[in-house]
Formats: sequence, structure tokens, C-alpha cells
Amino acid sequence: MKICFATNNKNKVAEIQHALGDQFELVSLQEIGCHEELAETTGTIEGNSLQKAQYVWDHYQVSCFADDTGLEVEALGGEPGVDSAHYSGTRNADENMSLLLKNMQDKTDRQAQFRTVITLIENGEVKQFEGIAPGSMRTEQSGAEGFGYDPIFEPTGYDITFAEMDMTTKNEISHRGKAVQKLVDYLKK
Ligand code: IMP
Repeated sequence: MKICFATNNKNKVAEIQHALGDQFELVSLQEIGCHEELAETTGTIEGNSLQKAQYVWDHYQVSCFADDTGLEVEALGGEPGVDSAHYSGTRNADENMSLLLKNMQDKTDRQAQFRTVITLIENGEVKQFEGIAPGSMRTEQSGAEGFGYDPIFEPTGYDITFAEMDMTTKNEISHRGKAVQKLVDYLKK
């Protein structure tokens, strides 16, 4: 069965193809002839995930799925959330982290979570899968692995940040890893 992952990130495609096995042929947006940047304008993580998958289904009639992720900080009312990628007005991870740490300067409640929603549209039918990684925000950066907010996020049950963790362990406990596992379990059923 052929299925499109609505992303142009080849690493993400390879990672999920590996988990799915050869029963499924995973293709990227480019491979179905879609060369646009998909809109993410709904204002919510689940909405943007659905918006991207729906666009591919409506224009290409290929079964597909899309993901969207945000970091939700309790003391900031769930911010940066759906705006995580460009919280500071830029896509620069250091600037995004600096702004977040500044906004949390006087906050003692450091609880936060990463949340991923994957929307699958299979023959027109919509299904969503959520993955959550609970944790807390550090007061300064630590570690050099990963990307985004990894250096300031400490997952629950660990005393290191995501950026100090090896990739295999991060994938096992991460928001994206958990959402992908639910998708894979569903597709393989
Ligand atoms: P996306 O929906 O996967 O593109 O994620 C949106 C934004 O959330 C990214 O640009 C990052 O800033 C942040 N983000 C998503 N996943 C992670 C993660 O695993 N670690 C750190 N930051 C992340």
C-alpha cells in the first residue's frame, strides 16, 4: 500500500518507513509531485496536522498523514504551542529558547510537555494519533544533541535534557516517537 507522509524532511520519512516495514511504500510530498510549502494556519496543533493531510488528500487523492508538534508550557498558558517553530518571530532555535527562558524568569512552575498530533487520511477517512512527552523546563541550556528546545527540556523520569540524550532513547520516550508508534500499530493491524 502506498501512503504519503506530508513532509519534505527525508529523515522523518526514512524513520517511519523503517518502523512500517515493506508492507507499506512511504512517499514524500516531492514524490507525489507536490512542491509547495503546506499551509499551517488553523491556530492549533491538531488543526494544522489535519490541514496538511487534508490538502494532500484533496489535491492528490493519495492516502496520507501529516504531523504537527508544539511545546506546551504550563506557566505560560500552553505557549509557545502551535507557534513553537517561530516563537521569537524567527525560526532560530537559540532565539526561541532565549525568549522562552526570559518569559519564564519569575516562574516557579516549570511543568511542560511536547505534544505531537499525526492525522491520517486513508481513503478519505480521518484518524488522529497523539503523543505526549511530559517534563519540565530548565533555567539554562544543557547538551548539544537534538534540535529545537531540546537543550532546555528535561523529560520526566530523567535528570538530563533531551539534548543530552542519545537519539534511540529520545525516540522511545518522545512525543513524536509515541504518536508514530500509535500510527504504525494502527496501519499494521
Ligand atoms: P514540527 O511540527 O515537527 O515542525 O515542530 C514544530 C516545532 O516544535 C519545531 O520547529 C521545534 O521548535 C519544536 N519541536 C518539535 N519537536 C521537537 C523536539 O523533539 N525537540 C525540540 N523541539 C521540538
